[in-house]
Amino acid sequence: MVMTATAQKPKLGYKDTPIIPGTEWHVHDGDRPQPRVVTSGSSFSHQAAPPSDAIVLFDGKDLSQWQGGGGKPARWKVEGGYMEVAPKSGSIRTKQGFADFQLHLEFATPSKVEGDSQGRGNSGVLINGIYEVQVLDSFNNPTYPDGQAGALYGQVPPLVNASKEPGVWQTYDIIFESPSWDDSGKLTKKANVTVIHNGCVLHHRREFTGNTPHRTNGDYSRPHDPEMFIQLQDHSNPTRFRNVWVRSIGEYDK
Ligand code: MG
Repeated sequence: MVMTATAQKPKLGYKDTPIIPGTEWHVHDGDRPQPRVVTSGSSFSHQAAPPSDAIVLFDGKDLSQWQGGGGKPARWKVEGGYMEVAPKSGSIRTKQGFADFQLHLEFATPSKVEGDSQGRGNSGVLINGIYEVQVLDSFNNPTYPDGQAGALYGQVPPLVNASKEPGVWQTYDIIFESPSWDDSGKLTKKANVTVIHNGCVLHHRREFTGNTPHRTNGDYSRPHDPEMFIQLQDHSNPTRFRNVWVRSIGEYDK
C-alpha cells in the first residue's frame, strides 16, 4: 500500500493546532483521553434557594441583571422560570463585575437533539468573556475532550463526564479566583477555577493557562481588572439556564 502525503482528517478534533503548554496534547486533540463517564447521583439539588448573601443574577423572571454586547439589551427568551439562548441574538453578560467568586447555575441542553460534537447543546460560561468553562451536551456525544462539558475550553478536559441527558436540568458550581498583574504588567497570579458538575468535581483549583480561544493557546498578555463580568454564550443552540447566583468568596478573619 502506498502512503500518500495527504493527511487524513482526524475523527475528532484537530492535530494541526499548537501543543498546549505543559502537556503532550494539541489544542482540541481528539486523541486526548476521553474523561470517564460518571452517573451522578442525587448529591446535588436543583432550584435550591440561594444563600442570603448571594447576588441573584437570574431568578426565573427577567434579564435585568444582564446585557448584550456593547451594552445593548439582552435578547434571550425568558419563560417558564428559565432563560433560553435565542440563537444569533448574541451572548449575554452580567452588568456587574465580580472578583474571586462562587457561582451557581443550572442549565439544560436542548431536549430535541440536533447536531453533534461541538454543534450539540453548545453554550458556555465565559468569565470576562475570555475564560470559558464549556457548556455542551456531552451525553453520548463524542467531541475533543478539551471541548466537552466542563472543560476549560482548549486547555483542560474535565476529570470526569458527569453529564445528564439532553433536556435534563444540571448544576454547575464554579469557584473562580481572578488573575492579577503587577504595575509593570507582569503576571503575578493565574486565574484558577474549581468546577463541580451535578455534584462531581471536574476541576479543583485548576489554573487557566490564559484566555480560551478556539484552535490556539491563550495567554495573559492583556491585563484586566480583577472584577469581571460573567458571560453566557450564544453558540446558536437553544440551551436553557435558571437559578443563577453569585457570591464573593470573601476573606478569613474579616
Ligand atoms: Mg461554548
